[in-house]
Amino acid sequence: MKKNILLNPGPVNTSPRVQQALLKGDMCHREEEIFHLLQTIRKNVLQAFAPDGGYGIVLIPGSGTAAMESAVSSCLSPGKKMLIVNNGVYGARILTMTKSYGFSTVEVQSSWLKPPDLSKIEKHLSEDPSIEVVAMVHHETTTGLINPITRLGELVHQYQRTFLVDSVSGLGGEEIDLKKSHIQFCGGTANKCIQGFPGLSFVLIQENQVDRVLSFPKRSLYLSLSTYLQNGRSHIPFTPPVQIAYAFSEALEELLEEGVIHRISRYKDASTLLREGFKNLNLDLLLPEGLRSNTITSLKFPKGMTYKTLHDQLREKGFIIYAGQGKLESEIFRVANMGHLTQNDFKHFLNALEETLKGRS
Ligand SMILES: *Cc1c(COP(=O)(O)O)cnc(C)c1O
Repeated sequence: MKKNILLNPGPVNTSPRVQQALLKGDMCHREEEIFHLLQTIRKNVLQAFAPDGGYGIVLIPGSGTAAMESAVSSCLSPGKKMLIVNNGVYGARILTMTKSYGFSTVEVQSSWLKPPDLSKIEKHLSEDPSIEVVAMVHHETTTGLINPITRLGELVHQYQRTFLVDSVSGLGGEEIDLKKSHIQFCGGTANKCIQGFPGLSFVLIQENQVDRVLSFPKRSLYLSLSTYLQNGRSHIPFTPPVQIAYAFSEALEELLEEGVIHRISRYKDASTLLREGFKNLNLDLLLPEGLRSNTITSLKFPKGMTYKTLHDQLREKGFIIYAGQGKLESEIFRVANMGHLTQNDFKHFLNALEETLKGRS
């Protein structure tokens, strides 16, 4: 039974099969079964997101931020700079990470409601040879905006720099071609569009980057890719969340059975249904068409409605919506459509939203 319909961007509603996998039993993480389980997870993530090869994967215990911080802490040569595209809370988070490691950075700030100006980024790349890594968020969950990763990747490639992408909320929900977008490092998590539980995340790493990463001094023990890449293989030298891994493995089986392309279309269909419903309720969307992701819709508050009222009344009906973040906190609310949900769930939500809005004033 689905008790709460989660319309927040992770953790998401999981299938009964994924939930059952949590109960596979107690097991020591040093036994053969668990090595095999983690190996199967790695193989299936790669099959889902890098089917043409050329990439390895590092599994990191922790939520998506753990994967991103491991990639950020591990991808830069000593003395070099990272350029960070900041057009939302998650771009800003990458910047905070680089600062906490004491890295030199170039921040390219950009409107939260527009794709970044690539010519501005190109200017930095052409003028500053010490910029080694360029980082951008694929799907800015703050607003639901899709950033132009392929076009930026081409630019980064042209200037022979390294491209780091946060696709924590993109993988499984948006099309992404790591090779075509010239991505060297890409962070992801088990519990958004892959429909597992929070607790395991991963970094997809282009194979030819592994030796580079291993040659840098370690800036962290737990959140360093080289900790996991030593001994020539991706390995978790700490206690992994075994039950979360059972469920992640099941979620990946489901993803591959459904097919990544079909998962993406299911999400796209869900967001189309929701957006038609929002239009009928005279709600205004924050972003113009063409910039919107398949899995998040940001909506302006209707007149006379606060987030608390809207949230609490919908919660009573079994639906959990999500607040705006940062400077948009008092202006928008968000409705995500990730997870094991059906068109019927979204139709029921639209009915509940209509009732809630009618009851206002
Ligand atoms: C959710 C999210 C993260 C952080 O993931 P956690 O699992 O909350 O640590 C990072 N980047 C993006 C784009 C996200 O949506």
